[in-house]
Amino acid sequence: MSYKPLFAIILAVCISSCSSTAQLSNLPASNASTDSTKYDWAAQTGKYLESIQSKEVFLRQFFAEMPKGGDLHNHLTGSVYAETYYDIACMDSLYVDTLSGRLYSKKDTSSIHIIRLLPDYINSRHMLKVKLVDQWSIRNFHSYNRNIPQDEHFFNAFGLFGAATGNHMVALINELKQRALHENVQYLEIMGTSPSVSDKKMDSIFNTENYYKNTNKKLLDAIQSADTARIRSVIDSTIKTWEQNIAWKNEGIVYGKFIDSLDASSIADTNLVTRYLAYASRKSEPLTVLAQLHIGFVASNKAASKVVGVNIVSAENSEISMLHYTTHMLMFAVLKEKYPQVKASLHAGELTLGLVKPEDLGRHISQAVYIAKADRIGHGLDVAFERSSASLLKYMQENFIPVEINLTSNEFILGVKDNEHPLPLYVKTKVPLVISTDDAGILRTNLAEQYVLLVRRYGLEYSQIKQLVCNSIKYSFLKENEKQRLMEKLEREFETFEKNITNNY
Ligand SMILES: [Zn+2]
Repeated sequence: MSYKPLFAIILAVCISSCSSTAQLSNLPASNASTDSTKYDWAAQTGKYLESIQSKEVFLRQFFAEMPKGGDLHNHLTGSVYAETYYDIACMDSLYVDTLSGRLYSKKDTSSIHIIRLLPDYINSRHMLKVKLVDQWSIRNFHSYNRNIPQDEHFFNAFGLFGAATGNHMVALINELKQRALHENVQYLEIMGTSPSVSDKKMDSIFNTENYYKNTNKKLLDAIQSADTARIRSVIDSTIKTWEQNIAWKNEGIVYGKFIDSLDASSIADTNLVTRYLAYASRKSEPLTVLAQLHIGFVASNKAASKVVGVNIVSAENSEISMLHYTTHMLMFAVLKEKYPQVKASLHAGELTLGLVKPEDLGRHISQAVYIAKADRIGHGLDVAFERSSASLLKYMQENFIPVEINLTSNEFILGVKDNEHPLPLYVKTKVPLVISTDDAGILRTNLAEQYVLLVRRYGLEYSQIKQLVCNSIKYSFLKENEKQRLMEKLEREFETFEKNITNNY
């Protein structure tokens, strides 16, 4: 089904250059876009894209070459391909349960299916590798008749290859960087790794026996009462205590420096800028979530850090995620008040009818926007189920709160695609959008494919595609001067791309 007429009429943004977009965001525009030749190249490129709209292979070639700006929604461990984890596991001689596909660093289980991987398995155990790659990703999912829902298979994969990740963060970042350079991506905002929080460490820092247990219980009791004012009051007083503790605040600085060091140790290339989002896992105990978020806010508040914002991740439909959702939003509300300059992108509304009860749909995006004051929304799939979706969409449009669209992810994890996806609704209501990959490794995709799907499914025109690319810099969490520099670079790259298309196709 094509949405082209809808887009053509409603998304009337004939943007010929990213500097035009820069003007929209109060960034100074370069005068390069006044050159009529460049407009002509853009127009010719648009005509070419229209001519190949139904030709998938041509689209792949087109989008492989097109500059794609930023990928603002990608998880480090989910973006690395399973083949890399297989190689790491062999090099590190990890153990694997050949039935479940789970890696172990030690042989601490009596399962008869456990074998030890060895370096020479990299090139000698083809069928073992095939099986593990399929278990650690969505590849060949439908060939196996796996007795597990797709969303469970997806989220389980992180735990299966997890033992191969922790000691190799720099190598994993390098894979993302190299792919981005290969794909003509100029900027990555990576959800790298979450701050580590433990009850023993917190007991020690706050010099109180059972500090973690007792404070967590206070939060759980408040959640149990369903009294929003009480929940907020406990969050407030906890943060106040933390803010007065130098050793605890140092945790944020240490985390920021750790992320900086990971990035500094990975490959450097002037054609790619990388930044990171700290995040909490919404399935953790509430105090752990609050602690991870606070560390992330402190880290992001420090100008030297590569940490440019905070997020919250994990399956949104899990029991604990659903139960604590409003509490998590209140945590963001309190932290945003304390650190108004820190940016937050929130996974919100990654739900659909049938996955949860209808009553549980239609409140997560509005809470993320109105309570947590999210600067960006990840997924935003259940927006049509929101009780006041029209006013919510208007608010997001007027306040420039973009949605990070992840088409392949939504299709596999939630079975939402084509005309069931809310993308046309967001376009109709002029909510800004950015295109991203989510977990390209597990999902066996890349950023170029997301643009192919956009054109194949929704018939977007070239000017609209270009607007989305520009949005990926405009709505990044970079500083304004960094955005300006990337916008100008992007404009030059588009110029080269369009000239090339005009002259060669
Ligand atoms: Zn995500």
